[in-house]
Amino acid sequence: MKKKYVISIIIIVILLISLLFCLFYPPKFTLNKGNITLKYGTKFQDPGVTITKFGHNYTEKVKINNKINPKKLGTYDIIYQIKIFGITFEKTRKVTIVDKEKPEITLNGSQNITICPNAEYKEEGYKATDNYDGDITNKVKLNTQNNIITYSVQDSSNNKTTITRTITKEDKINPTITLKGSQNQTIYTNSTWQEPGYTVSDNCDNNLNSNVIVNGKVNTKKAGTYKITYTVKDLSGNTFSVIRTIKVINKPVVNNSNNPKPSKKGVIYLTFDDGPNEGTTNVILDILKQNNVKATFFVTGKGPDSLIQREYQEGHAIALHTFTHNYETVYKSVDNYYNDLAQIQNRVKKLTGTETKIIRFPGGSSNTVSKKYSKGIMSVLTKDVVSKGYHYFDWNVDSDDAGGARNSTTVYNNVIKGLSKNRSNIVLMHDVKPQTRDALNNIIKYGKNNGYTFEKITMQTPMVTHKVNN
Ligand code: ZN
Repeated sequence: MKKKYVISIIIIVILLISLLFCLFYPPKFTLNKGNITLKYGTKFQDPGVTITKFGHNYTEKVKINNKINPKKLGTYDIIYQIKIFGITFEKTRKVTIVDKEKPEITLNGSQNITICPNAEYKEEGYKATDNYDGDITNKVKLNTQNNIITYSVQDSSNNKTTITRTITKEDKINPTITLKGSQNQTIYTNSTWQEPGYTVSDNCDNNLNSNVIVNGKVNTKKAGTYKITYTVKDLSGNTFSVIRTIKVINKPVVNNSNNPKPSKKGVIYLTFDDGPNEGTTNVILDILKQNNVKATFFVTGKGPDSLIQREYQEGHAIALHTFTHNYETVYKSVDNYYNDLAQIQNRVKKLTGTETKIIRFPGGSSNTVSKKYSKGIMSVLTKDVVSKGYHYFDWNVDSDDAGGARNSTTVYNNVIKGLSKNRSNIVLMHDVKPQTRDALNNIIKYGKNNGYTFEKITMQTPMVTHKVNN
């Protein structure tokens, strides 16, 4: 009886031990993918876990404790926890966040820079940024060898980036010579030719002026066209040349074979500038017609074509003034002057079918306004136009209708006061002015009543010219 009791106790103890063993026996955790290395910046996605014990699946009951800080590199624990019959079991997964991305260096300016041979390269700057460390510009190291600059930088995870910049010392750009004075000049025989000078500019080299080689001579004893060549080479061997042309001409003589007729005394040449103009020119033409007087119109690019055609058809002289009447453009250079003259010549030729060599400079040959745009240009032009066969006319009677004469009485008085029987009278007026239009009939009446005759300017009319002031 006692023995039986002992056996029962032994069995109960064995059962109890078995039960405890079963309760504390750990479940099996299967971590998909095990420990994980995660690239910084990518999101952690749990690959999952499977938990089984004695054929039972406990996966559903898992509690996950995620301690990852995605903003910081390091190794983190993910703890999977399960409670079976009040007993807690757990398994840890290690997740390591790493930075494998290289920093980036960006250069200010080009990767290939060309500078002058005698220049020093001045660092144009750079910037280094890293996906994890941010701005690491101050960690960039520079190393220069044989005109190659190496920029390298390392981030806190030892990822390294290296880039280079190449500096080429070279000059392939020509110097330039700027001539002082006009590139095309006209002078009279037996005058003195004086070199107006020049300046050299170059992208790399200074003070090349003394390196200029000047070739060519001007023989002022002999009329002809002379060329002077200016050549300069910079320190890298780039060359530049420019040619100046000097025309030496014989001084034209007014009233010679070109102007066979001597100045006619007591003749009035009415001249009208700046037109044509609707509302004034047409009335002026009516008055001239009624009085059977011929005049000279120095026309411009303005006004209706029909009025220039009428002037021509009614027997007046069409002469050239200027197309634009813009002093700044016309007197900027000799070439500009001739371009403007060609434009008004074209207009006249288109409208009348003929060309004319009779001209009047905008502002007259004595103008000083041209000084602002080109010094000495009137001295050149007054000779040059004559050498090209033009006759230019200023005036010796000024109506002042473009100045202070604002009404017809003043215009009339100015003209009457200026007339002289002892010479030919070239009267400056502007057919664009209403006060001139209104004074004209009385001026003509005065002339006729006082023994003057009226003529238009022709190539035989002696030139009346002012003293040149520029
Ligand atoms: Zn004018």
